[in-house]
Amino acid sequence: MDVLPEFRLHRPTTVAEALAARGQGAEARYIAGGTDLLANVRRGLTPASALIDLSAIAELRQIERDAAGLHIGAGVTLAEIAEDAAIAADYPALSQAAASVAAPAHREAGTIGGNLCLDTRCYFYNQSDWWRQSNDFCLKYRGEICHVVPTSKRCYAAYSGDTAPALMALGAEIDVAGPDGGRRLDLADLFNDDGIDYLTLAPGELVSAIHLPPAGGRSGYEKLRIRRSIDFPLAGVAVWLEMDGDKVAALRIALTGTNARPLVVEGTDVAIGQTLDDDSVATLGKLVQKQISPVHTTTTQPQYRRRAVTALSGRLLRRLAAT
Ligand SMILES: Cc1cc2nc3c(=O)[nH]c(=O)nc-3n(C[C@H](O)[C@H](O)[C@H](O)COP(=O)(O)OP(=O)(O)OC[C@H]3O[C@@H](n4cnc5c(N)ncnc54)[C@H](O)[C@@H]3O)c2cc1C
Ligand code: SF4
Repeated sequence: MDVLPEFRLHRPTTVAEALAARGQGAEARYIAGGTDLLANVRRGLTPASALIDLSAIAELRQIERDAAGLHIGAGVTLAEIAEDAAIAADYPALSQAAASVAAPAHREAGTIGGNLCLDTRCYFYNQSDWWRQSNDFCLKYRGEICHVVPTSKRCYAAYSGDTAPALMALGAEIDVAGPDGGRRLDLADLFNDDGIDYLTLAPGELVSAIHLPPAGGRSGYEKLRIRRSIDFPLAGVAVWLEMDGDKVAALRIALTGTNARPLVVEGTDVAIGQTLDDDSVATLGKLVQKQISPVHTTTTQPQYRRRAVTALSGRLLRRLAAT
């Protein structure tokens, strides 16, 4: 990695000041914990003439609970979420996902907003400048072709954040603040199925808060990674489940690491009214298999990730049904 290039640092104390600072330059970037962004700046992947540090904005650092549910400021750290006993009790999938991100030092600095907005990843992209240059770069940045799917004109870099699928399974919405005002959207609508243009945020917009509905049901997160101590997910599965006796009353399954965006598996209503036995788990596994498209963006074989994510889903569903 290279040393950091020179940049101007802004340290706003309100969202309005942050938006105003961001408006001042095309290469201005928001920075929260910096655990994703700074590595990308040092690798020459993300030009940044100005960094707008969000960490001094008190309104982004709150966790609040009311009758409408749980509200988490985008600047709350992953460690704060993972260590919150009430979140662990009410929203286990989120707690487990936050605790599985990187290593303790990353979680102390890394925020939930930064985790949602982190860049997509690919073996041919997350490399030093000289490594990428020796391969003629690639479509995602400065190159002409995709080395993973050379016939394609799109990028398949994988979305690899851990908390997005957990939040999506739990039914999260987010607040976005921007120069033209604020809006609330389903978290799933933050993401594009495109490894280059992976977020739907307009220039200058930032995520300010995450909202979860009142606690209910059972949930969990399972992650496949090479090093258990610290690693991005090769695949991650979050499940939210409500049971009526031994029958499924409601179910959402969400995935990360397999596509350019995190996704909620479609068609899981087929399990409503069923027990989670081998047949229904196999049916849900087929839905998962059909909707993921892992390609060779990591050193691990796509076929292995495909089979492993299906097995992880089944294991998690059985674990939750037995809880
Ligand atoms: C060795 C290593 C291992 C890692 N392992 C994992 C892992 O297992 N799982 C995982 O999910 N991540 C992993 N990460 C990535 C990173 O640590 C986390 O995703 C972290 O949560 C990022 O949060 P941050 O606050 O540091 O984001 P930053 O690095 O500050 O920002 C990340 C991106 O989000 C943007 N951004 C930040 N906040 C906002 C906001 N409020 N609104 C709009 N845009 C915003 C920034 O401009 C930047 O583009 C790892 C990183 C490293 C270095
Ligand atoms: S999927 Fe292709 S275009 Fe995208 S980062 Fe990898 S090699 Fe580059």
